[in-house]
Amino acid sequence: MTMNEQMIKTEENILHTYNRFPVVLEKGEGVFLYDSDGKKYLDFAAGIAVNALGYHYPGYDEALKEQVDKLLHVSNLYYNETMAMAGEKLAEASGMKKVFFTNSGAEAIEGAVKAAKKYAYIRDGHGDHQILAMNHSFHGRTIGALSITGNEAYRSPFLPLMDGVRFADFNDIESVKKQITDKTCAIFVEPIQGEGGVFPAEQEFLEELRQICDQRDILLVFDEIQCGMGRTGNYFAWQAYGVKPDIMTCAKALGCGVPVGAFVLNKKAASASLEPGDHGTTYGGNPLACAAVSKVFDIFKEDGILRHVQELTLCLEEHLDALAAKHTCILERRGMGFMQGLVLKDGSVGEVVKKALEKGLLVISAGGNVLRLVPPLIITKEHIEQMAEILDSCFE
Ligand SMILES: *Cc1c(COP(=O)(O)O)cnc(C)c1O
Repeated sequence: MTMNEQMIKTEENILHTYNRFPVVLEKGEGVFLYDSDGKKYLDFAAGIAVNALGYHYPGYDEALKEQVDKLLHVSNLYYNETMAMAGEKLAEASGMKKVFFTNSGAEAIEGAVKAAKKYAYIRDGHGDHQILAMNHSFHGRTIGALSITGNEAYRSPFLPLMDGVRFADFNDIESVKKQITDKTCAIFVEPIQGEGGVFPAEQEFLEELRQICDQRDILLVFDEIQCGMGRTGNYFAWQAYGVKPDIMTCAKALGCGVPVGAFVLNKKAASASLEPGDHGTTYGGNPLACAAVSKVFDIFKEDGILRHVQELTLCLEEHLDALAAKHTCILERRGMGFMQGLVLKDGSVGEVVKKALEKGLLVISAGGNVLRLVPPLIITKEHIEQMAEILDSCFE
């Protein structure tokens, strides 16, 4: 099939919920992707912050193939070794206590919502609790996750959503205080808002959230689905702030390409929330997914992936700052580590993304007017220079 035929067949059969770019991606190597016409793309999108190790990272494919030959699925009625290994490594990297593996980010959020509700239910002996979330947040597309997502356009067609959710302004502690009630059982926050436009939390904001949650026995939930797994040069973004959550969600780069997520609880949340019968999943913690998670943590550790991000962040920031200084259509740069955004004048981001694609660079947008860069964590200085050169010509 030609590229055009593949696109037509897709549109014929697949529900049109995405306005896809007119390209069929066929294979990857390192930090490059190739379309089915053989054109090469430098990948600064990483499948939306998923492919942290790029494509065919040494040892990764082999670990998956080995697992395919052993066992793909057993269900959660039995133990499997890969889950034991993956759970131990995620608990260690986060310094948290208990892990529940899911198949996606939205499902990790659903689990975190249930854990928070159950915690308050056990404490108070009754339900009817509320959740506080942030404006401009993104937590996923299922009904529960959508209920705590602060984006009207995503929500309105699906009302009524889950009851008892209130929204506060991100980085505005007074707004949070106003929205907290005696019923609030959890505050959900992305340490760096991703889809909303790459907004890092302010240090004091997270510290004050932690304080308020401690004072009122509210669970603090950090959504690390996009900003976690090394993207900031730490395993999790909250580690850069030194502010610990009670529950954390992860997904995206957790399996570096295999669909997997998790919610992770500290001792307090784990010891008095979900019990046998409260929650479940057929696929979650599946041996193939867990083999990927386990291998990803090994690679991060053995190959110094976090250190690499820390060492190259300045280089990435300098190149983006130089673009911002040169081109008046760039209003500012925001971000941390390898999660960066260039805020553009309204209406231009779609055009820039399209131009970059034509010139062999994959980037994505966020929050309407932000050009988002979430490259594989293994990019080198040369890749950063190449990206900056292409973007420079796009902005001309
Ligand atoms: C992508 C994302 C989600 C949803 O994850 P899915 O795997 O698409 O369900 C939730 N929260 C954040 C911060 C995300 O970036």
